[in-house]
Amino acid sequence: MIPVMVPMLGEEEAQAAAEAVRSGWVAQGPRVARFEEAFAAAVGAGHGVAVSSCTTALHLALVVHAVGPGDEVIVPSLSFIATANAVRYVGATPVFADVDLAGGNLTVETVDAVRSGATRAVIAVHQGGVPFDTVALRKAAEGWGLALIEDAACAAGSTAYGAPAGAGAAIAAWSFHPRKIITTGEGGMVTLDDAEQAARLRRLREHGMNVSAADRHASSRPVQESYLETAYNYRMTDIQAAVGLVQLSRLPALVAQRRALAARYQELLAGLPGLTAVTDPPYGQSNHQSFWVRVDPEFGAGRDALLDALADAGISARHGIMAAHLEPAYADLAARTAPLPVTERLTRDSLILPLHHRLTGADQERIVTVLRAAAGR
Ligand SMILES: *Cc1c(COP(=O)(O)O)cnc(C)c1O
Repeated sequence: MIPVMVPMLGEEEAQAAAEAVRSGWVAQGPRVARFEEAFAAAVGAGHGVAVSSCTTALHLALVVHAVGPGDEVIVPSLSFIATANAVRYVGATPVFADVDLAGGNLTVETVDAVRSGATRAVIAVHQGGVPFDTVALRKAAEGWGLALIEDAACAAGSTAYGAPAGAGAAIAAWSFHPRKIITTGEGGMVTLDDAEQAARLRRLREHGMNVSAADRHASSRPVQESYLETAYNYRMTDIQAAVGLVQLSRLPALVAQRRALAARYQELLAGLPGLTAVTDPPYGQSNHQSFWVRVDPEFGAGRDALLDALADAGISARHGIMAAHLEPAYADLAARTAPLPVTERLTRDSLILPLHHRLTGADQERIVTVLRAAAGR
């Protein structure tokens, strides 16, 4: 049996979690602060604010950018549904834009096509680890006067224009769910360069309190906190952050290994007309958090037939990235959604192949042999 993804968790993570438990400090505390600093440094951001998930990170990013009822936020439909859901948490309306065929990412053109007078922000996803064109999209958003929120859930270790994918972002949201490249069980982070917004984010994740638990702990007298605004409990625990610190130290090796495995897939698939493997864009490098393949009619077997053949051979693959506009939760927006031909093609015709630290070259050959056989090659 070949699984599609296996989190890389070792004895070091188990020990780090146990140490946090033994220390008696299990909620947000010193390990969270250390993880924030280390993660922000690793992705080239000035500040990191740890939260409970990428979904809550996206929610808070919209709150600090004052997005609310009556506002429209442009998002790719081709993304995990949390990207669109976050927009609804603040009472705004998601407007779905199409993506480019090669990388599955928003472009200046696809965003421009659905802009309106009500547009306040754009959430651009670094799709499955493939960076969007950060230079082009950040510049365009600035020119349009729109906030650009980067959904970097899958992008730890990806690069664009020689920098980490989230570096230079006005605000970026990251995920540490086990399906992503490094994990804390559940968990997320907001990164940004603006110190004032970072301070507000720290309050927003902690009930709007102006004094953190760490500050209170450091004081010898009871500190009178004050609640500055209605906010949330979106904290990460110190147990999670302890695991995250170990995971972060593994990130460069994990990314290097995933890139090598992706290159091997690309080689094995190169001679098969009708199968197109995801590749790096000219300006950057994916961490290959997801390795997807687009199946075109000339291949001779459809996407679903390939998923069946893989499953029969004990290989766990997945449908391509979902399209939120096709889900019942967004059926109410159907009438106002412009056609999304590339999104619909990618979600219908692509599949995600296994890629993880235990995958061997022999596994990859077996997987590609099953794909060829399904098409009678
Ligand atoms: C996984 C994912 C999320 C949600 O992350 P959580 O940490 O599980 O909330 C959001 N956006 C994208 C693009 C994702 O892949």
